Amino acid sequence: MPHRVLQRLISLSAKDRQQHDKSCATARQLLFLTFVLLGGAFSACAAGLQSFEAVEPHMGTLFRVKLYAASAEQAQSGFRLAFARVETLDNILSDYKPESELSRVTTLAVGRPVTVSADLFHVLVAAQQISEETAGAFDVTLGPVIRLWREARKTGRPPSPDALREAARFCGYKKMKLGAKDNTVEFEQAGMKLDLGGIAKGYAADEALVVLNKNGIKSALVAASGDLAFGDPPPGKKGWSIGIDSFDSARAPFTKTLVLANSAVSTSGDTEQYLDAGGKHYSHIIDPASDMGLTRRMTVTVVARRGLAADPFATAVDVMGAERGLAFIERQTEAAALIIVREGAAPRTIESTRFQRLPVQAN
Ligand code: AMP
Ligand code: MG
Repeated sequence: MPHRVLQRLISLSAKDRQQHDKSCATARQLLFLTFVLLGGAFSACAAGLQSFEAVEPHMGTLFRVKLYAASAEQAQSGFRLAFARVETLDNILSDYKPESELSRVTTLAVGRPVTVSADLFHVLVAAQQISEETAGAFDVTLGPVIRLWREARKTGRPPSPDALREAARFCGYKKMKLGAKDNTVEFEQAGMKLDLGGIAKGYAADEALVVLNKNGIKSALVAASGDLAFGDPPPGKKGWSIGIDSFDSARAPFTKTLVLANSAVSTSGDTEQYLDAGGKHYSHIIDPASDMGLTRRMTVTVVARRGLAADPFATAVDVMGAERGLAFIERQTEAAALIIVREGAAPRTIESTRFQRLPVQAN
């Protein structure tokens, strides 16, 4: 029987711990995907490695790193480097920070190509490709519309049709041009705003693992809210045990425990950030076809080689709906998806072909 393990929490201030406890409580109520580690995590294992864990707030959420290291010193240095990499990425990719590279480039690159950092270019290329493959269901240029919905969640009132129509004039992935020669980006119009909320955490989780790997830590897991990335398995194991629960309540038994390594899992849905107004439940995920928050009740979990794919794929499938979303996942070479439609009396669960074949832990 898998069990949850809470291990050493390193570099956690009282305030962070409070935030962490609050977020854990929310997660217990709402999250349907949680990672679990099989027993014996505290004991020294055959390879002489021990398990360590640390949590820090970044990108508006908590980043949790779990790793196996030869010593507490090696673990500490790994945590420091991994969190520093996430912080660097936040300073590049954040749309909340006016001084981030992302925020600055939207004003600088109007009508002219501007060279950007390798990280920003890499994420924008991935995003643009997914926009093309999903006929714009995933679109990081939705910034102006997303901001209106963010405001709406504070005021409790959906944006007016006029405001949405006006904001939508400044959106559209086809108005963002990328140049591979010099890593450039160019916007057709002034007033465009990017929002990487559906892709940045997955990439940051990948990159935290890369840093750990470069520093000799191969067995590690990085979890940023619903976006998780896994390196090599824990010593002596085939993979990290990930409990996938079909229902909202954490009390429901895990329906499936996946055993994953060197891959990523992301979950998107309407349970964490939403607006309830006028009898409707609006998700923080926007359908670019209508500029409205999604109202269908769906949760999507995607497994892919990297968080840079799993994270945006999960968001995109949510926008496309079960049928189109499933077809999109089946077209990919490596991705797998679990779609849970919560309409009607009982939730309907749909697994893509590759999801059905993922390694699971025998009960
Ligand atoms: P996730 O939690 O990964 O599904 O991402 C949700 C976040 O992605 C939202 O909070 C927005 O910042 C952003 N977002 C919302 N709708 C879209 C969309 N259609 N395409 C790309 N990003 C979106
Ligand atoms: Mg996502």
